[in-house]
Amino acid sequence: STWWGNVEMGPPDVILGITEAYKRDTNPKKVNLGVGAYRDDNGNPFVLPSVRKAEEIIHKKGLNHEYAPIGGEASYTDAVAKLAFGENSPVLKNKTNVTVQTLSGTGALRLGLEFITKHYAKNKEIWMPTPTWGNHPQICNTLNLSHKKYRYYDPKTHGFDLQGAIEDISKIPEGSIILLHACAHNPTGVDPKPADWEKLSHVIKERKLYPFFDMAYQGFATGDVDGDAFAVRHFVKEGHQVTLAQSFAKNMGLYGERAGALTFLCGDEGSAAKVMSQVKIMIRVMYSNPPLYGARLVQEILNTPELKKQWLADVKSMADRIISMRTKLRAGIEGAGNKQPWQHITDQIGMFCYTGLKPEQVERLTKEFHIYLTKDGRISVAGISSKNVDYVAEAMHKVTS
Ligand code: PMP
Repeated sequence: STWWGNVEMGPPDVILGITEAYKRDTNPKKVNLGVGAYRDDNGNPFVLPSVRKAEEIIHKKGLNHEYAPIGGEASYTDAVAKLAFGENSPVLKNKTNVTVQTLSGTGALRLGLEFITKHYAKNKEIWMPTPTWGNHPQICNTLNLSHKKYRYYDPKTHGFDLQGAIEDISKIPEGSIILLHACAHNPTGVDPKPADWEKLSHVIKERKLYPFFDMAYQGFATGDVDGDAFAVRHFVKEGHQVTLAQSFAKNMGLYGERAGALTFLCGDEGSAAKVMSQVKIMIRVMYSNPPLYGARLVQEILNTPELKKQWLADVKSMADRIISMRTKLRAGIEGAGNKQPWQHITDQIGMFCYTGLKPEQVERLTKEFHIYLTKDGRISVAGISSKNVDYVAEAMHKVTS
């Protein structure tokens, strides 16, 4: 007998299911393109050299394990806010921002959205791009926060549907919240160009919408942390008071350390103080205070000029490897004589590529070629290496011709 006989089996996590199937496969040619984590050219997890150095420095400091403050250490939150909004950002100088450490990007989204459900006074519904990261709607469901969709990805061009997005956003009720992926959109790899962001900022201001940015890949998209922050910084320059969720999982390879941050730009210092007091109350009852180690690594890197320089080079090396795999994959498929357009492989950006493969083609890739990916045709380009790129290209050619 059990107290839990009433509990129904939940559906397995899609990505974890793919990894399980990949692990069971004994074929030596197998490739996992489902993983959402960077891999080096040998297919192994990658510890950034800058992170290794920061680990040594921290080890030598012989720090204790006392509690962090509820919102995290200021040396961390100041540094991560500067990285996002820019070294000389007026909103940081005026101290009108509330920035707290969170349990990576997911924790920032969860805390930010929960704060909205409790304290947001305008139209309490959030509009998301189609498609979006699966956890976005799921977090809203958990919080009973109404979520709706605006057009984003155009399956015909495999690119950004600017016209559709603008049309839909123009009809969003005033005072609603709009979710924006700051860069390297997951799952499509499709980002608006700077000129598109300018148009989006304009219509979002006209509709009086509240922008909530999810920035899980700063630096990972182009290799340039400032360039990847363009959207966020442009919106701020245009006077938007944004919310921002940050993650250091990808750009520092700190997946399991759970180093992230949540920022509310509040407009004035008085509101910032009140918002901070309520954010702290929310954290206190959820997990009391954040973990130390990942945040120590991040702040050491961002606050030590030499280490930061090394990190910027590390991020660029990851972005560059991904970009070169995109080029090779496209060349391989086209070189095999495939007649379909594949330019989107190199146009898209960041870790993921929305290939446009149909579910039955994905199934063939897995069954016949032992290549694992999600049914929507998304591949993690990080799973491609110089050793398997020809094999993947050939398989993609065969299932699409
Ligand atoms: N947002 C998006 C769009 C993501 O793709 C991810 C990582 N998969 C996250 C947020 C957060 O990840 P984490 O909690 O590991 O920082």
